[in-house]
Amino acid sequence: MIVGAFLTQNTAWTNVEKALHNLRTADALSLNAIRMIALRDLEQLIRPAGYFRQKSERLKLFVQFLDERYGSSLERMYAEPGETLRAGLLGLKGIGPETADSILLYGGNHSVFVVDAYARRIVERHSILAADAHYEEIRWLFEQALTPIAGTDAIPASMHASPLEPLWTPTHPPSALSSALRPRAAQTFNEMHALIVEVGKNYCRKSKPLCDQCPLGQFLESQL
Ligand code: SF4
Repeated sequence: MIVGAFLTQNTAWTNVEKALHNLRTADALSLNAIRMIALRDLEQLIRPAGYFRQKSERLKLFVQFLDERYGSSLERMYAEPGETLRAGLLGLKGIGPETADSILLYGGNHSVFVVDAYARRIVERHSILAADAHYEEIRWLFEQALTPIAGTDAIPASMHASPLEPLWTPTHPPSALSSALRPRAAQTFNEMHALIVEVGKNYCRKSKPLCDQCPLGQFLESQL
């Protein structure tokens, strides 16, 4: 998951999948493998994801951070209070808030909302926030809106009664990750992010958004 959070920076997920396939085929899709592999070899494997030199360097720096600060233990790293870990991650070269929050939410089940380009586009098009709104402003907006329905208790994700209507039918049984015990807030933020991605991919495209077909169309004040 952490490797994916780095690879997905500034590229489409289809390119990330090609890079992940290369890593998997080379038996290099683990933090230990990233630790051991030569930088040049790593660059070649993740080349399809673009910016492969920067991303290889960032992955290596992350592993170094994990080794030096947490004795190579992800468990120890995720046991840090969220804000402390977030500050540490943001101090690393090439880790911005979206990558840091992806690691916190998807890796560590910390209750934090991940703001991506789709979320930003939707709140802007609905005139909720200005186009130049700061990342933290958008994150705060989603977290404030979702926390009252999310609560703070921990539940198995598979037992979560979502207040949100799914937009698609699952095509496979839940993975170990998606059925793990996690805080209800983390589960809710996770689901909301997935819904935002679906709306962004299928309706709220960069140009020519499909507002008349979009499930959020009813909340739009004027057609784009
Ligand atoms: S209605 Fe849907 S497609 Fe249109 S701006 Fe809103 S989120 Fe985007």
